[in-house]
Amino acid sequence: MRGLLLVISGPSGVGKGTLCQALCRQIDSIVLSVSATTRPPRAGEEDGVHYFFVSPERFQEMIARDELLEWAQVYQDYYGTPRGPVTRLLADGRDVILEIDVQGALQVKEKAPEAVLIFICPPSVAELERRLRRRGTDSEEQIVNRLEWARTELEAVPKYDYVVVNDHLEAAVAKIKAIIVAEKCRPIYFTKPDCVV
Ligand code: ADP
Ligand code: 5GP
Repeated sequence: MRGLLLVISGPSGVGKGTLCQALCRQIDSIVLSVSATTRPPRAGEEDGVHYFFVSPERFQEMIARDELLEWAQVYQDYYGTPRGPVTRLLADGRDVILEIDVQGALQVKEKAPEAVLIFICPPSVAELERRLRRRGTDSEEQIVNRLEWARTELEAVPKYDYVVVNDHLEAAVAKIKAIIVAEKCRPIYFTKPDCVV
């Protein structure tokens, strides 16, 4: 059976990474797609695990060779989803999560209408700011930029299939798991048993 293509977006600091890690721990069939990016690795990030860290020239080559399912400029850098691994994993029946921005999510929906788009919302902008500050990975300037960009991203909510507010982590994980279960009941994922004519 073909796997489910799940796209998760939302403002920086809302908890996408935390939610995706929890989903991968709790559901065996789920795999997180590894994106390519031109941004330099942060402390503790490994090439091929968190991202494929590539040069701007290599990124342009990936675009030219149609190796990316989607790509976008986010903040100062380029990010894209390598198409090959996603296609292979879905054909193997694995459920694939793309943790990507709004621009990329809408490209995926156009190319693969069966993809399920989930937008993760913060309980409030004040809580989003608290989470960004508590994470401690961004400069003051980056925090201000990310909060400003968050307001623009929130305007894309009506284009998504689902919205999940990440207030309590376990409650948000449970909602995403419920979406996965419901989506897998759609007729496109139904394989007719031998006994049905
Ligand atoms: P993103 O991947 O969306 O940028 P992260 O997963 O890095 O966000 O989460 C940002 C911060 O918020 C982290 O410190 C994380 O531990 C925290 N966080 C995530 N979900 C919740 C939640 N439901 N309640 C409180 N803090 C959370
Ligand atoms: P970060 O640099 O903090 O890891 O990610 C910054 C932003 O880039 C996040 O909003 C993240 O969802 C987005 N992003 C990560 N990978 C991709 C990708 O492959 N494509 C697109 N369009 N956005 C991505």
